[in-house]
Amino acid sequence: MNSRKDEIVSNLALVKEKIKVSALASHRNINEIELIVVTKTFPASDIAILHELGIRDFGENRDSEGASKSVEVAGNWHFQGQIQSNKLKSITTWARYIHSLDSQEHLEKIATLCKERIEEPLGIFIQVSLDGVVGRGGVLPNQLNELGDLVISKAGVRLMGLMAVAPLGGAPDKAFTELAAIHKAFYTRFPTATALSAGMSGDYESAISHGATHIRVGSSILGSRTPAL
Ligand SMILES: *Cc1c(COP(=O)(O)O)cnc(C)c1O
Repeated sequence: MNSRKDEIVSNLALVKEKIKVSALASHRNINEIELIVVTKTFPASDIAILHELGIRDFGENRDSEGASKSVEVAGNWHFQGQIQSNKLKSITTWARYIHSLDSQEHLEKIATLCKERIEEPLGIFIQVSLDGVVGRGGVLPNQLNELGDLVISKAGVRLMGLMAVAPLGGAPDKAFTELAAIHKAFYTRFPTATALSAGMSGDYESAISHGATHIRVGSSILGSRTPAL
């Protein structure tokens, strides 16, 4: 009998093996690559299985899902969806990390909500747009320094680094090569911003070879989502 747990166990083992192979091939230390399992649309029962298997980092795109699942399963919860201003009050109660910051206005609101959060500041990744189309989320590379300056000026938040999604239909290697160069310039200016959140089910091996430190993998571990989100 093939239970849901068996399915998750074997998918997770395969993804972990591929992470290891990619890390070795690019001479990277496996310990500097963090796997975030993207649990959007999947039930808390799946997350409980993942927790049992040692996974502690979970990613969500919607406040409502993250808010309820994070009550059911403890862990490091990551928000990676497009930010809606009116959801920030709730998001900042359950998320330890936001991967999708792309506006000064949202940062101002986050900083107000997190100003007492001195012991454990909210980790911020600035999302950068690699296709020049800001509508899909992310700021243009030439706007990163300004937003980075603003993040480091605030208490209660901590600048982690950058996040990006490879453009649809393009070659991920090309996009992640460009991203690596953008990230290098960024952490030269902001030396603590060493994290790079990049790579999803279809392209995490490429992302690892270009320096990703946080990969966000959903469907390869939990199966396809219906409806797609
Ligand atoms: C859905 C999503 C993921 C995970 O995608 P998979 O293809 O299921 O691995 C990663 N990052 C973001 C921003 C997403 O929206």
